[in-house]
Amino acid sequence: MCGITGYISKTNDANTVAINCLKNLEYRGYDSSGIAIFNENKIKLYKSTGKIANLCEKIKDIDTTSKIAIAHTRWATHGKPTETNAHPHRCKNITLVHNGIIENYIELKEFLQKNGYTFNTQTDTEVACAYIAYVYNDLNIKDKLKCINEACKNLKGSYAFGIIFDDEPETLYATRKDSPLIVGYGDNGNFISSDITAIIKYTNKYVILNDYYISKITCDKVENYDENLNLVNLEIKTSDLTYNENTKNGYSHYMLKEIHEEPTVIANLYKRYLDKDIATIDLKKFDKIHIVACGSAMHAGLIGKYLFETYARIETTVEIASEYRYKNPIITDKTLVIIISQSGETADTLAALRLANNVGAYTLAIVNQENSSIAREAKKCLYTYAGPEIAVATTKGYTSQVAVLSIIMINSLKNNNLKDTILKETATIENVLEKTIDMLPEYKNIANKIYEKNDIFFIGRGIDYALCMEGSLKLKEISYIHSEAYAAGELKHGTISLIENGTPVIAIATDETLFEKTVSNVKETKARGAYTIFITTKSLADNTDVDDFSDVKLILNDMSKINITHVVALALQLISFETAKLKNCDIDKPKNLAKSVTVE
Ligand code: GLU
Repeated sequence: MCGITGYISKTNDANTVAINCLKNLEYRGYDSSGIAIFNENKIKLYKSTGKIANLCEKIKDIDTTSKIAIAHTRWATHGKPTETNAHPHRCKNITLVHNGIIENYIELKEFLQKNGYTFNTQTDTEVACAYIAYVYNDLNIKDKLKCINEACKNLKGSYAFGIIFDDEPETLYATRKDSPLIVGYGDNGNFISSDITAIIKYTNKYVILNDYYISKITCDKVENYDENLNLVNLEIKTSDLTYNENTKNGYSHYMLKEIHEEPTVIANLYKRYLDKDIATIDLKKFDKIHIVACGSAMHAGLIGKYLFETYARIETTVEIASEYRYKNPIITDKTLVIIISQSGETADTLAALRLANNVGAYTLAIVNQENSSIAREAKKCLYTYAGPEIAVATTKGYTSQVAVLSIIMINSLKNNNLKDTILKETATIENVLEKTIDMLPEYKNIANKIYEKNDIFFIGRGIDYALCMEGSLKLKEISYIHSEAYAAGELKHGTISLIENGTPVIAIATDETLFEKTVSNVKETKARGAYTIFITTKSLADNTDVDDFSDVKLILNDMSKINITHVVALALQLISFETAKLKNCDIDKPKNLAKSVTVE
């Protein structure tokens, strides 16, 4: 979702540096972009719809140099993704970029209109910009820190702002509430950014701005102020990330590269956490678990639910964060609240975490992005160490979350056969997952059978149903094929009426206790004309005549009940990938989607 970068340089390269940084935020998903620079004694704005490449094309022939620049990728929330609505916005002597949503913008807009302000865009951001201009010019609060502080007191919602005042064009101001923003300390100048990956090429030193704090940044100095405008010392953190051009390493797509990284990511997580105190939670202290997340992270949570309920026998509910935060959830001091987010900045998930913290719950975060808001604010955080994920549709982000949930559960088992098996499997899991990737021709074959279809159904039971949910989401995210996941036993309670001649049904059956039941459900769809794609494991397939009821079969390597989830997830990701490829979709950046969803 929206990316902000800003740079104030000791030399005149702020425009190029800011654009370079912005390109590193492309992965978050956006629909337009823009930059403001100070050149020939005035602020100049350049904006474009679509990719940053369009913006670069626009400015490539312009002889621009600048000491200062703020740049933005917009994921439209208020107003269409047009060039006019793209950021930066400008009103009177204020120029600003924004991530978030100003919830009271209509009220403020009416107030400002009565005071003579006019608006060119449909955005909430232009209103915030005008309101700061109003406080600065009309209320005459000429101390810039006081002006920003005062203006923000009247803004409701979420924001990260980068602000330039015309009369102080060598200073960048920044502030935030509920949207991410860091300040980077470079050798040749200083930065603002939505995250560290954007600026890591230039510096690994940064501070995280607290909510309501304001940063005053020049090329050689950063001053941070708290909400009462007292100068504060924030801890300067050093990131371990290294700059690697975010290359695709020879792969055609980031998504494919990231899928290929999964065997190592998962094997390393097992080595790091399995049977280790750091990832051991005394589950007996709790009588219920709430897993709270959005999207694929929520699907990872569904796997966690099956594991915690089956093996640890603790009642577990999986909650969509945007629902949980507004429903007054029943949390007691015996509730473990597990919060899952790849970016650690997902707005709804962060709000759910804060709610759980406020009522005194024990909160455990499972997060990929180091030092993100969720990682910092949870009582305990287990990182997924998946490395940067650039493709918008998550792959290694999801499986690494599943791995951490599995490890928490396994670590809680004492002297259990399953635990012994899993401990043994850690030696081979990387290899088994690599072999799963090697089955690419089979995934291509399935993709060939489904890519021209309009509707697809995934069915499964138990943990296979949870895998179906993620498989189905992945397929619709990147191939735009309408797809639904159903608990196999539920299909005949309505949805089976949608099965027509040739409708693909992808059935997953890896749990031997539910295998026969799922097979019956597949047969029911086949009897109604479905084109059946049956996914199971070698040992289960050996005892059944799979060809009787499957048009295509996919027989995966055997693994223990827990680790089989990684095998299936990888296979489903590759099927989605190959399907989207056949449809010529923009796989790494699917339309309308954003990676780090920082608005609610
Ligand atoms: N709400 C603002 C807009 O629609 C900012 C969106 C964003 O965070 O990209 O312009």
